[in-house]
Amino acid sequence: MDLDGKIAIVTGAGSGIGSAIALDLARNGAHVAIVDLKAEAANAICAEIVKMGRRSLAVSANVANFADAQAMVAKVVQEFGRVDILVNNAGVNRDAVIWKMTEAQWDESVDINLKGCFNYIRAVAPLFKEQNSGKIVNVTSINGMRGKFGQANYSAAKAGIIGLTKTVARELAKSNVNCNAVAPGLIETDMMKALPEEAKQKAMSEILLGRMGAPQEVAWLVTFLSSEKSRHITGEVIKIDGGQYI
Ligand code: NAD
Repeated sequence: MDLDGKIAIVTGAGSGIGSAIALDLARNGAHVAIVDLKAEAANAICAEIVKMGRRSLAVSANVANFADAQAMVAKVVQEFGRVDILVNNAGVNRDAVIWKMTEAQWDESVDINLKGCFNYIRAVAPLFKEQNSGKIVNVTSINGMRGKFGQANYSAAKAGIIGLTKTVARELAKSNVNCNAVAPGLIETDMMKALPEEAKQKAMSEILLGRMGAPQEVAWLVTFLSSEKSRHITGEVIKIDGGQYI
């Protein structure tokens, strides 16, 4: 995929799917700025990108913070001159059944998973309009498409990302911006390590291909959606789940 010289921002790129995405974009030629709550993890990925001969910067911030998103994007523009690709990947689980879910669990999940996407899209949208180009890829989940026991907050936030993706695709199409979402099924990351064994086995039994996905496999799809090879795709939600959803 030819992303030579493109400037990308990836949120939650300190580990898991986000780090695989940041590294894959860099492997394909992009300079990549990363945001993560965990400064050390973000710095480590940043160093790997630089080792590949690309430019990178790491910012430690909470994607739920509107002002921090504005500042992060401004910093990227100051350092790199523009932004071409935004990948909204940062996400968390705050699981509880609905009759036990606390207000804090609801708010944190929606603020990070959904408002985090809004914050970064809102920060890049004026730039994308002005330069008449841009790629946005949001990471949702198959659980945002079908609901999931114990994840009312997460499923609602991830479903919200789908509405956000389609609306932004409509609003920025005239500015030559593509906005799509990827919906992973069970992918082997730290997030999955927190899943109770029984829930993991149940999810595994649904996967037609018989195994969890790898972060790299999601990254390949995101790189494609960040490239010109996908220029006629917008407003789409593409499942990447080994057949878990059907
Ligand atoms: P992960 O926990 O391995 O990585 C998430 C990263 O995001 C971490 O580095 C974390 O520090 C960072 N992060 C968390 N909250 C943040 C915040 N408020 N601000 C900035 N950074 C923050 O998780 P993952 O499995 O790699 O998940 C990545 C994305 O993929 C998430 O949006 C998740 O919902 C989605 N997803 C994952 C799976 C899966 O099976 N792993 C399935 C479907 C969707």
